[in-house]
Amino acid sequence: MRDDNCIFCKIAAGEIPSAALYEDEDFRVILDLSPASKGHALIIPKEHYRNLFDLEDGLAAKALVLAKKMTIKLKDVLECDGYNIVQNNEEAAGQTVFHFHMHMIPRYKGDKVGLGWHMGKLEEKDKEEILNKLK
Ligand code: AMP
Ligand code: ZN
Repeated sequence: MRDDNCIFCKIAAGEIPSAALYEDEDFRVILDLSPASKGHALIIPKEHYRNLFDLEDGLAAKALVLAKKMTIKLKDVLECDGYNIVQNNEEAAGQTVFHFHMHMIPRYKGDKVGLGWHMGKLEEKDKEEILNKLK
């Protein structure tokens, strides 16, 4: 499966140059062109899936294992202090490239990477509604 209009399909296939850190039969891992911090990288499957909602289960599992391996290796190379794994699904959640990918964002003490949210309060009615609807 591939989408001829998709830039990540082309990058994953090696048809558009990228700074590739790793490649196997399922994935290419590249440096992000607009990094949030030094070493910000993307795990990109070679097959086209819009996002997590339609990603094949086997690839979903492999992607997380690959993120684990890559971050363990990269944290020594980059000498960073932590890592965020970020994965955006749909425009409302900040997805801009509609080919599944996982961000691996190295964190350095005192860096200015703007990830985070205002912490709210779990409302009783929200909790009841969600738990009931999931039954
Ligand atoms: P998202 O907002 O989760 O869809 O993330 C898309 C990411 O892809 C952004 O961090 C972009 O900087 C990055 N990006 C877009 N085009 C390229 C490219 N040609 N090479 C490397 N990274 C890219
Ligand atoms: Zn694609």
